[in-house]
Amino acid sequence: MSMSEVNKMSVKQRSRLALNNDFLRSAVKFTTERLRSGKQQAAADHGHWDTWRERGRQIRLHTITNLDYYLNVFAENARANGVHVHFADTAEEAVTLSLQIAERKGAKSVVKSKSMVSEELHLNKALESIGIEAVETDLGEYIIQLADEAPSHIIIPAIHKNRHQIAELLSKEAGKTLPPDTSVLAGFVRNKLREKFLDADIGMTGCNFAIAETGSIVLFENEGNARMVTTLPKTQITLMGMERIIPSWSDLEVMATLLPRSATGQKLTVYMSGITGPRREQDGDGPEEMHVIIIDNGRSLQLGDPEFQELLHCIRCGACLNACPVYRQIGGHAYGGTYSGPIGAVLTPALKKNVAEWDDIANASSLCGACYEACPVKIPLHDMLVYLRRRKVEAGLGNKAEGAAMKGFASVMGSSRKYRRAIRLGKLGQKLIVRDGEIRTKIGPLKGWNSYRVTPSLPKESFRDRWPTLEQEMSQRLHKMDAEVESRLKQILNERKEGGKKI
Ligand code: SF4
Repeated sequence: MSMSEVNKMSVKQRSRLALNNDFLRSAVKFTTERLRSGKQQAAADHGHWDTWRERGRQIRLHTITNLDYYLNVFAENARANGVHVHFADTAEEAVTLSLQIAERKGAKSVVKSKSMVSEELHLNKALESIGIEAVETDLGEYIIQLADEAPSHIIIPAIHKNRHQIAELLSKEAGKTLPPDTSVLAGFVRNKLREKFLDADIGMTGCNFAIAETGSIVLFENEGNARMVTTLPKTQITLMGMERIIPSWSDLEVMATLLPRSATGQKLTVYMSGITGPRREQDGDGPEEMHVIIIDNGRSLQLGDPEFQELLHCIRCGACLNACPVYRQIGGHAYGGTYSGPIGAVLTPALKKNVAEWDDIANASSLCGACYEACPVKIPLHDMLVYLRRRKVEAGLGNKAEGAAMKGFASVMGSSRKYRRAIRLGKLGQKLIVRDGEIRTKIGPLKGWNSYRVTPSLPKESFRDRWPTLEQEMSQRLHKMDAEVESRLKQILNERKEGGKKI
C-alpha cells in the first residue's frame, strides 16, 4: 500500500494496519527498547540528570520567551559571517526560496543530510518536479527514500524495517541480490553515496541548534554524512525551524549533554559540527556560498499560546517516542503527519488549524505521562493531549455517544444515591454476561476493550459495602496497637528505673 493511500486513512485504520504488521511491531519494539534502556542508563550514569533537565528547560524557556530578539541576533551575526539569511513564513515560501537558489546555481543534484523540516516541506518532491535529483545521505533516510515512505521516527527514520526488508530494497537499487548482512548493506550504500557527494551541486542540511551569539549552526550526527554534505558541494542550504535557536555556546554544553543521551544513550554523537559561515580563504574545505532559511510554517501559532508554547522547547530527541507504550506498538506512520509519537500527536494539530482533521491523533495516547518523564526539557505533552481532546469536544466535534456516556457518568458520580442504584443495577445486569468473575463479551462499547483484554466483573461486595466493617476493624486494630505501644513503653521505663538497663 502506498504512503498516500495510508495517509488517507483515519488514525484508527492506520493503527489497525500497523497492529496487523508483525514485522513492523517486532522491529519497532526491538529498537525503541534498545534506545529507551540506553537513555535510562546514560541518565543514571550522568548522576544529576534531573538538575540538567531543569537547566535545559530554563534555557529553552528563556530563548522561546525572547525568540524575536535571539533570531535577530543570530541573523545579524550570520550575515556578518557571509551567510545569506532568509525568513520563510510558510512551507511554500521555504520551498520557493530553496528552488530559486537551486535554479540560480544551475543545480542538477542536491545531497541532503537528515532534516525533519525538509520532510515537513516535502522538499524532495519539489526539487524533483524541476528536474533536480535530491539524495538523502543519512542511511535511514536513504532507505525510506528508496521505499518512497516518510520517516516513522524522528531520529531512526527506518525503525519499522528489518534487515531483510532493507536488503530487498537495496538489492533493487544494486540490480543484484545483496545478503541481509549489515556490513555488506552499509558498504553498498557508502559506495553509492560517495559518487553522489562528489557530483552534488548543493548540500542541504537541517539544524539541531543555531547559536545566536556567533551566528553558527550546529549539527549532531553519527555517520559523517552531514560533514560530507557541508564540505563537498559548493553551495550549502540549511533549513532551520525558527525555534532551533539557543543564545550561546555555553548553552550548547547543556543541550549537547541532553540531546544525544536522550536520543540514543550516547554521551555524545560521533560527529558534532559547528559551522560559522561559508569557506574563508584559509579554510581547506567548505561551501563557497551558504544560505540559512529560517522557517515558521505554523510555529508562531504556538507563540503566546499558554497551552502550546512549550512545544517550541522541543529539541527533537525522540525520547518520548521510545517511552510511549502506544508508539511502541504502532510505529510512526499510524500518526499520519511528519512527526509521530507523543510529540507528533501534539505538534501536528498545533502546527495546523484544522481541528477536525488532526485532533484525532490526540486519542492515540494512554495519557500515562511516560513522555513527560522521558523528555529532557520537561515538556508536559500529556497535559497538551488532554487539552487537544477538550478542544475537539468544545468545537462540537467529539463523539456524540461518548459525550452522552460521559454526561451520564458525571451525573452518577455526582450523587451517592444514583451511584448506589447504578451499582445495584450493574450487578443485576452483569449476571447474563459474567463468566468466572470476568466479562468477555465483545458487544457494543465493550468490543474494543475486550478484543485485547478482559473486564473484571463488579464484585459481590463493593468497597462501600465493606467500609463500615473495615472502619470498625481498623479502629480495633489501632486501639490494640496503642495498647501494645503503651505497655512496651511502661516496660522500658521500669527497666530503666530498676538498674539503668540499656535499651
Ligand atoms: S518532546 Fe521532549 S522527548 Fe519528545 S522529541 Fe521533543 S524534546 Fe524529545
